[in-house]
Amino acid sequence: MSDCIFCKIISGEIPSHKVYEDKNVLAFLDINPINPGHTLVIPKKHSADLLEAPEETVVELIKIVKKIALAVMKATGAKGFNLGLNNGEAAGQAVTHLHFHIMPRLENDGYKLWAGKSYKEGQAKQIAEKIKNEL
Ligand code: 5GP
Ligand code: ZN
Repeated sequence: MSDCIFCKIISGEIPSHKVYEDKNVLAFLDINPINPGHTLVIPKKHSADLLEAPEETVVELIKIVKKIALAVMKATGAKGFNLGLNNGEAAGQAVTHLHFHIMPRLENDGYKLWAGKSYKEGQAKQIAEKIKNEL
């Protein structure tokens, strides 16, 4: 896509610190890392998000994510990582080209995941049924 910044990174029009590249997948450092080594993994063929991407693209991508996550851990000394995917504007997706975030986590780096809510009486059963019915 001509106005997609990640497509421009793939073509080399926008520079990036690439860490992995093959025929279908590119991985490069996020320009605003939560910790050094925060890496984005993207398919070279443009898809807006996870739901739009062909299944085989997602499968290929997740295999590479696993491989790169281990390399990021070793290279940064991170004790863990968060794997992120913001799907849709409501979820904070800013760049509409499918990407996984591999975010290395250091002990006591101060980040916290969001706090969970509680279900009201009967609400969990109801939503579980609704989801099952959509599958
Ligand atoms: P999203 O919120 O869409 O999941 O995350 C997009 C990510 O892309 C952000 O973490 C942001 O820092 C990163 N990003 C945006 N523009 C650029 C860029 O030009 N180069 C690189 N390397 N990362 C970018
Ligand atoms: Zn794109």
